[in-house]
Amino acid sequence: MTKAVPLAGLYKMSQAERKQALAEYAGLTEEEIALLEAGLSPEQADMMIENVVGRYALPMGIATNFLVNGREMVVPMVVEEPSIVAGASYAAKLARAGGGFQTSSSAPVMIGQIQVLGLTNLEEAAAKIKAAEAEILHKADHDPVIRKFSGGARAIECRPLPNTPAGPMLVVHLLYDTRDAMGANTVNTAVETIAPMIEDLTGGRVNLRILSNLADHRTARAECRIPVDALTRGQFSGQQVAQAVFEAWAFAAADPYRAATHNKGIMNGIDAVAVATGNDWRALEAGAHAYAARSGRYTSLTTWSLVTDGAGQVTHLQGELEMPMAVGTVGGATRSHPMARLALKILGNPDARTLAEIMVAVGLAQNFAAIRALATEGIQRGHMRLHARQVAMAAGAQGDQIQIIANRMAEEGVIREDRARELLAEMTKDS
Ligand code: NAD
Repeated sequence: MTKAVPLAGLYKMSQAERKQALAEYAGLTEEEIALLEAGLSPEQADMMIENVVGRYALPMGIATNFLVNGREMVVPMVVEEPSIVAGASYAAKLARAGGGFQTSSSAPVMIGQIQVLGLTNLEEAAAKIKAAEAEILHKADHDPVIRKFSGGARAIECRPLPNTPAGPMLVVHLLYDTRDAMGANTVNTAVETIAPMIEDLTGGRVNLRILSNLADHRTARAECRIPVDALTRGQFSGQQVAQAVFEAWAFAAADPYRAATHNKGIMNGIDAVAVATGNDWRALEAGAHAYAARSGRYTSLTTWSLVTDGAGQVTHLQGELEMPMAVGTVGGATRSHPMARLALKILGNPDARTLAEIMVAVGLAQNFAAIRALATEGIQRGHMRLHARQVAMAAGAQGDQIQIIANRMAEEGVIREDRARELLAEMTKDS
């Protein structure tokens, strides 16, 4: 028996109907429904950053059709670019034909770095630090809350860098399990706490003590297997679409110029969930691109392959994405921004690892949506039709005028602000 897809047909509803459907699905209170309208208050904004003069709203959309480890879910996404929410929902719909997304993740272990200078023998200093590892870890374990949740300092690693522009230096890594926190503040405090000990042990001088955003000990992984039959689209057979997606991926795997855009497509989805849930999308971006270059050559974060049967016939398109995913469900803005709290509630209040896994599933879906569109009908057709509404708004169209002008421009195949202005002038002259 196939389970009902939550919030199916959301795209056909008015915004008011969507809110109602979401409220019923997620059990939102009256205050939470009102929050969808009101967002962050001026007082809350004033507490978040410096020199606040206002608040800047972005649309929150809901991606549907996500089946992750057999669990149905809908995903809140906050982003200004059209096609992203639709693309994720469409890709998730195809993925569910093959059982949805299977995900996993590592323990949430972050890296804190300590830069030690003024050493004459890097190897000897590293050995002294390793010999005192237990003592250092004990000192680094400063957070009783994280310890209570079985997190905390895990290991010390030393990385000698003999040839830097500033001469030799030893880089000490503190591996720290931050549980449900993204952990930047926690890890920064930990490395600051142990820095004097490192100086005493080595006789060196510590300069920086800071988190690394290349969180390669904290990764999440998603995969999906889409049956080729589900890929049939218009004049394209499922086999043709699978082959075209595979070829598009091969381009990104081999060429950094293409990989940058390919990975940007992945981050379209991941960042939108990060913003919705109050997570630090700059940290994720930094981690993603550094990880994509970890072999020494920048490449695709995803892998797509063709699965064949015994007779050599392609039966499935298989996608995989594994990447650093330093996200939290406590700390930072995740609890202080009321919309982030709401987004986490819509997701079923996941822990940090579950959130990370949902986010890589969204990234994989987004990547598939983009390369499928690019490799078949081209991205412009669908994208520009949605983009046309923004162009019409930029030209000054309001209310019903927006869709009418967007439709006209899409029919003409000319989606430009000057054309939108002409159409608006015609409309206002006529009325
Ligand atoms: P935080 O310090 O606000 O919250 C983490 C704290 O929450 C922990 O120290 C712990 O005491 C508590 N906690 C309660 N329940 C917990 C649980 N179940 N698991 C873990 N901890 C629990 O936040 P943080 O996560 O340490 O730091 C995140 C913030 O740091 C983000 O806002 C980020 O933008 C910012 N930041 C990022 C960077 C960077 O990426 N390079 C650098 C500095 C700051």
